[in-house]
Amino acid sequence: MLPSRYFVDLTQPEIAAQFKTNPLVILPAGSVEQHGPHLPTGTDTLAANVIGHAVAERMDGLVLPATPLGVTPMHMPFEGTITLTPDTFMRVVIETCAATARHGAKYLLVLNWHEGNIPSLAIAAESLHRDHGMTVLTVQACYVAEELYGKTCNGLTHGGEIEALAVLAYRPDLVHLDRIDYSSDHSHGHKMDKLRRTRSYQPVLTDIRSIAPTGWFGSPQHATADKGARMLTDIAEAIAKEATDIFRQLDAVQGGPAEIKHLRHAS
Ligand SMILES: [Zn+2]
Repeated sequence: MLPSRYFVDLTQPEIAAQFKTNPLVILPAGSVEQHGPHLPTGTDTLAANVIGHAVAERMDGLVLPATPLGVTPMHMPFEGTITLTPDTFMRVVIETCAATARHGAKYLLVLNWHEGNIPSLAIAAESLHRDHGMTVLTVQACYVAEELYGKTCNGLTHGGEIEALAVLAYRPDLVHLDRIDYSSDHSHGHKMDKLRRTRSYQPVLTDIRSIAPTGWFGSPQHATADKGARMLTDIAEAIAKEATDIFRQLDAVQGGPAEIKHLRHAS
């Protein structure tokens, strides 16, 4: 039994042994950005970390150190935001995971909670597969949350109930429901979120104020730690089940890293 699922809590022999047992690593990806007066700036990273850990328990994997920052130029008009450029972010993701690949990690689950990271993560995932031989799967955990809890939580909104629940499940001391204030208009926010979240048409928005002039919108008033724990379990169960099945299907059609090396060198 591992004393912890977090890579940084473990010793070298524990990690070496775990890579032999199950060479699966999970990279939580989040961001540091303003989330209104009631949620911490690290909300997305906290959410990715706690879900990543719950998935690691179910899939027998190790949780890598989460990306310290994300790509979030949209939120820069507000003081609580620190953004990386896509290039820097991609390099951090690729170099973090590639190092583990050198030590024997073969399967990588990138667990993302921040929409601004999606394009950069897609490019990093390609590189980690093609250049470093990992079998890679990226899951947009925030969208899984929306699918499971959007109906009862008034959608996935920036600073809304789903985000409050994710933090409540991990660090309830950082959630200040008594400070909820100045939510932007819901119907305009939902309209803009719908505009930017379609498969076929992808507009580029300058900053969050075109969605929510005050920086956030939603109705997290009724979020509780109990509901947060339930949401965490439901999301983790769903992701672990789906990811296990997808890794199995990938193994069946394209083999593992050894085969990729062989194919690359055969030509
Ligand atoms: Zn967020």
